[in-house]
Amino acid sequence: MYFKDIVGQTEVKERLIRSAQTGVVPHAQLFTENGGAGAFPLALAYARYLNCKNRSATDACGACPSCLKYDELAHPDLHFVFPITTSKEKKREVCDDFLAEWRSFLRERPYFSFEQWTDYLEAGNTQAIIYSKESDEIIRKLNLKIYEADYRILLVWLPEKMHATCANKLLKVIEEPPVNTVILMVSETPDLILGTIQSRAQRIPVRPIETAAIVEVMRRDGLAAEDAAQVAHLSGGSYLKALEVISLNEENAFFLEQFIGMMRNSWARNVKAMKAMADLLAGIGRERQKHFLSYCQHLIRENFMYRFQSSDLNYMNREEIGFATKFAPFVNERNVIDLMDELARAEQHIGQNVNAKMVFFDLSLKITVLIKR
Ligand SMILES: [Zn+2]
Repeated sequence: MYFKDIVGQTEVKERLIRSAQTGVVPHAQLFTENGGAGAFPLALAYARYLNCKNRSATDACGACPSCLKYDELAHPDLHFVFPITTSKEKKREVCDDFLAEWRSFLRERPYFSFEQWTDYLEAGNTQAIIYSKESDEIIRKLNLKIYEADYRILLVWLPEKMHATCANKLLKVIEEPPVNTVILMVSETPDLILGTIQSRAQRIPVRPIETAAIVEVMRRDGLAAEDAAQVAHLSGGSYLKALEVISLNEENAFFLEQFIGMMRNSWARNVKAMKAMADLLAGIGRERQKHFLSYCQHLIRENFMYRFQSSDLNYMNREEIGFATKFAPFVNERNVIDLMDELARAEQHIGQNVNAKMVFFDLSLKITVLIKR
């Protein structure tokens, strides 16, 4: 993670860069955000920049021995603390036992949420926390001699998830910091952190990302100007939220395409195409199949209402409306209830693990009859 990889946040970046350049580096710093704004990537980029042997005015060099080790998240003077779920059977009780997972997790996604991490750990309903045992680890690591770095970094993700014992020991460390050690904490609910830790740490508020910066990164990823603006608007300054909106949009586009295909096949009585579509839909997984069928019900309803409603009352996007202008006349009083019933029944059958190929093929045949009413 480099400063150049951060979406927006020009002001915070400048502040951190100035800190490194002037050597005014508070030994305990608390980055706060509402999620998705980039606090963790900023802290990591800052840690890298602090230790780069050949940094430029704006970023770390990417080529010095320190940067190379940061690339692997394996610098001997970079220590991570993060919530985990311990298991007695596997004897994994401290963060270091999870380092391999943590590194590959970070490599795959520079921006992430607590939920994504617990999903990654397959924690299920077990709440991930930072256990009291971690405090011994922290103290052990900070008592070691610094290997090679200018600044030894302890990067604590979500200190609010710390067991009280651990938090109290961390407080002691912050009160009597070892030399050249910088403790960077990244929090999404700072109010839950021990007050004495809060008051001894320098606050770095990371505000929601500027809309223009999100638009820019969306445009770079290939979105049209209008879509990028819409995604940025919906994101509320969270890059994670923006990514989520895009993937929902993609799913929606896929569903619409299948819906149109299904209606066309049925109208044309194209049995071969119906079979092919049933095969395709059988392969997308039960959860998506159910989502698709409930999406179909939504579209049938909207198409039925289309001619009665003013445009501000319809709940369709641009592409869906484009299709509705042609398709709506085919959904009428004579078939709307039966169409809805068949779709609901198919959804129910999928929920009951009935063979998906059969469910979708059978559904297409039924629509063939209903759509001509
Ligand atoms: Zn470097």
